[in-house]
Amino acid sequence: MRKRRAGGKRKTEGFRDVFIERRTFRTIITSAVEVYNRETNGALLGRNATREINGERTEVVSVKEVYPFQTDKRTPSEVIHGNKAAFKRVLRTFESLGTEIIGGYHSHPYPYGFVGLSRGDIVSVKEDVEAMMKIGQERVRKGWLELLLSIKRKDYVKPQKPEWYICDYVKKLRVRVRTRERTGYDILISAYWVYPKEKYGEKPVKKMKFGVKEVSVYVPWILE
Ligand SMILES: [Zn+2]
Repeated sequence: MRKRRAGGKRKTEGFRDVFIERRTFRTIITSAVEVYNRETNGALLGRNATREINGERTEVVSVKEVYPFQTDKRTPSEVIHGNKAAFKRVLRTFESLGTEIIGGYHSHPYPYGFVGLSRGDIVSVKEDVEAMMKIGQERVRKGWLELLLSIKRKDYVKPQKPEWYICDYVKKLRVRVRTRERTGYDILISAYWVYPKEKYGEKPVKKMKFGVKEVSVYVPWILE
């Protein structure tokens, strides 16, 4: 069933594929379902790691934990930091606890039109990168990892017990989770590195050009 190959060995490109650890996976899926049909938004914590994918030891970035923001204003079309001071408190708290965020995740509830980051998403990433660098948090300097959950509610004619399953595409993962006998959610998970195409320091971060590189997403269950 699983034929695609991980791209973790492409040293030249430097953008690692993403491995979402089990607990993290449960949290992001649940937080997207909880606020449907508004967007969820949170921070990612993780680090480079080696995982076995299709029988090969592969260099990935492992997403160990996520932090769903509680202060954001959520609407069906955008999530904005409702409280910039609160975002900075989150950053500083993680630092005090010995870590830094590596990126973020958010959802696009149906109708999302296309699967991918919007212009507005790139603007928020730049703002977040700028906020982090201002306080000396450099982990996102070369790239910010953004996980996107494109989510759609599904109504079924035939009742069935709650269940869930996953299928995988070239890079994305599709998760179907049935929460009631006739109701479920279809969630497509995609991962992007948002990275600067210019040097820092020459102009404000928000005026710099950033590129987007999609990478593959893996979760533990389907790798056996
Ligand atoms: Zn978005």
